[in-house]
Amino acid sequence: MIDRYGREIDYMRISVTDRCNLRCRYCMPEDLISVDHGDILRYEELLRVCAAAVELGIRKFKITGGEPLVRLGCADFIARLKKLPGVEQVTLTTNGLLLEENLDALCAANLDGVNISLDALDEDLFRQICGGRGSAAQVLSAVRKSVERGLKTKLNTVILEENAGQAESLAALAGELPVDVRFIELMPIGFGVTLNRASPDALLERLKLRWPDLEPTDERRGNGPAHYYKSAALQGRIGFIDAVSHKFCQSCNRVRLTGTGLLKPCLCYDEAADLRALLRSGCDDEELRRAMEERIYNKPRAHSFDSPRDITEKKAMSQIGG
Ligand code: SAM
Ligand code: SF4
Repeated sequence: MIDRYGREIDYMRISVTDRCNLRCRYCMPEDLISVDHGDILRYEELLRVCAAAVELGIRKFKITGGEPLVRLGCADFIARLKKLPGVEQVTLTTNGLLLEENLDALCAANLDGVNISLDALDEDLFRQICGGRGSAAQVLSAVRKSVERGLKTKLNTVILEENAGQAESLAALAGELPVDVRFIELMPIGFGVTLNRASPDALLERLKLRWPDLEPTDERRGNGPAHYYKSAALQGRIGFIDAVSHKFCQSCNRVRLTGTGLLKPCLCYDEAADLRALLRSGCDDEELRRAMEERIYNKPRAHSFDSPRDITEKKAMSQIGG
């Protein structure tokens, strides 16, 4: 559907859980209390929301969390979502730790692609960033297996001061494998405010020393705002998602659904439609659709990441879905 600023909104990120098996420092602290299972939308409820979203013109869905694969039945849910009439694309974002054991089910579900988060190849640094859990080797193995299975695979790295030195070795994975490697600028949401942001422009300059022919490409590689660079030496592309330093709100196409059923039109603000309350009060499909339409139509014009006191969203990113 078209919002009041003329943007076409056709993409929804759906968080299926706020729980996670990692504790990335910018996302989820060790002691964050998880929501009770009963307060998370059931898969049936999610499918009702998705059906209403399709009627409003949303055709592409990203399954996220917390870590989506820690929720039982995630692959089955994806299979059901893929079969919903009007759904064109369903992709998943994951930290990769449970990916290998879910690959059969995800491929059988006809998942359209997977984004795997990996902030460092160095194991000490990986554990430093991810709360002392997991391992880079395990994530990398899942990346290789995912590529072997023919799944469209991308890597996401949040760039921080401490892992900026890893950028070259992470980008080199796009040479070895047909994967896009995307560097995400740290956003001042949740625990993102507690860390120092590294400059994506400086990082690009560093990568150009290793791949001097890196040049921008207009190819469309996904649903998001990433801008991409190509080099003859790389199979995949190098992408940047730099929401803070290169604001892209005028072309934003997305809304978010939190695990507790809040429909959020913008990452920056806490305004949301409480779809769980509506669903559990026995609303009919028309009421659900109208509540979603109203909230999406009134999507804010732009974020205020450059003006901290205007950021009203106080939830952790693990509670929103990234
Ligand atoms: N657990 C899954 C994962 O890590 O991919 C899915 C959920 S995670 C919240 C989704 C994405 O949000 C990840 O790529 C993560 O790196 C990113 N993210 C989390 N906090 C962020 C922040 N403050 N700024 C930028 N990206 C962030
Ligand atoms: Fe978990 Fe993903 Fe957040 Fe890391 S970024 S703590 S893996 S939800």
